[in-house]
Amino acid sequence: MSGIYIHIPFCKQACHYCDFHFSTTMGKKEAMVKALCKELELRKAEFLGEQVATIYFGGGTPSVLETEEIEQLIAAVREYYDVVDNPEITLEANPDDLSEEKILQLAASPINRLSIGIQSFFEEDLKLMNRVHNALEAEKCLQLASEYFDNISIDLIYGMPNMTLDRWKQNIDKALSFGIPHISSYALTVEPKTALAKFVEDGLITPATDEETQEHFNVLNETLLSAGFDCYEISNFGKPGYYSQNNSAYWQQKKYIGVGPSAHSFDGVQRGWNINNNPKYIKSIAQNIVPMEVEVLSSTDKYNEYVMTGLRTIWGVSLSRISTEFGPKYKEYVLLQANKFIEEHLLFVDGDILKTTKKGMFLADGIAADLFMVNLK
Ligand code: SF4
Repeated sequence: MSGIYIHIPFCKQACHYCDFHFSTTMGKKEAMVKALCKELELRKAEFLGEQVATIYFGGGTPSVLETEEIEQLIAAVREYYDVVDNPEITLEANPDDLSEEKILQLAASPINRLSIGIQSFFEEDLKLMNRVHNALEAEKCLQLASEYFDNISIDLIYGMPNMTLDRWKQNIDKALSFGIPHISSYALTVEPKTALAKFVEDGLITPATDEETQEHFNVLNETLLSAGFDCYEISNFGKPGYYSQNNSAYWQQKKYIGVGPSAHSFDGVQRGWNINNNPKYIKSIAQNIVPMEVEVLSSTDKYNEYVMTGLRTIWGVSLSRISTEFGPKYKEYVLLQANKFIEEHLLFVDGDILKTTKKGMFLADGIAADLFMVNLK
């Protein structure tokens, strides 16, 4: 099973922490939708014999599209690809776009999963992040969306400057009060060249410390596990039956095609990434050329990616798979490197699977880096 990711590179305004690819000029929206449909057509041969199980609208802000535009893109996927009977179709949406009218339209469309960028239920956090929506809109849209959609995920950000543990707990409790089955939660990171990086540089903001951030994660983890969620990936918590199929497929190294500026693709052998410039993307597609650069992954790259994603997830890393896919040397190496973390109770071996413990999950990236191969091919 494979997935299709559609990148919608528009946002109403730039959030202070964001380094994704988007434009705040909506002038090219119509031309972009046309180009995205065309890219879907141009790449259909890549999925010959494959079935598409998930379609994901990410961004940017996909909810700035009209519902007809979203339907047009889904129709293009169905026209050029073999889509399973009941695919998961997710739309990332921002609260300020989710009026009752829009939610009704979306509920009547093929979209069956909403991923809503709430980030925080507190005004001061939303202002600091320069989100378009306010706290009232965050609650209102969630109330409305829950009436029409069963499969809803929200994003929440922790580790924000001045965010007390108490405020973070209130954010989690508020999210739970809506009965949603999935939460994606990320630590705020200060990315270079963002407004947030400038505020930090100018001394206007002091980022949360690593200890504070880890404490936020621990509270999140404890609270959501008690509420019946599984932490199936370091940043993703879902009730059974509500894990994101799209994201799970990425973490399990399944194939996906990403269309749109800056979208990434993976075919099992190579990774590709499209140009991250809207006008150049549209121009190139109009000439029937997909503006993509590719990198063929070496065995070492694939091993490193598998270890990195595996340790971040509930599925862990299969030692027999490492041996079969990469060779016994890799298995010996991973076990040798894992030893000290096993002694520190950050990793454990469960049958054939090497996994992070509850304590180790937050540190998964650092642990994985120690398990990476550098020179062996
Ligand atoms: S809405 Fe999302 S993609 Fe757009 S600027 Fe904000 S964080 Fe970035």
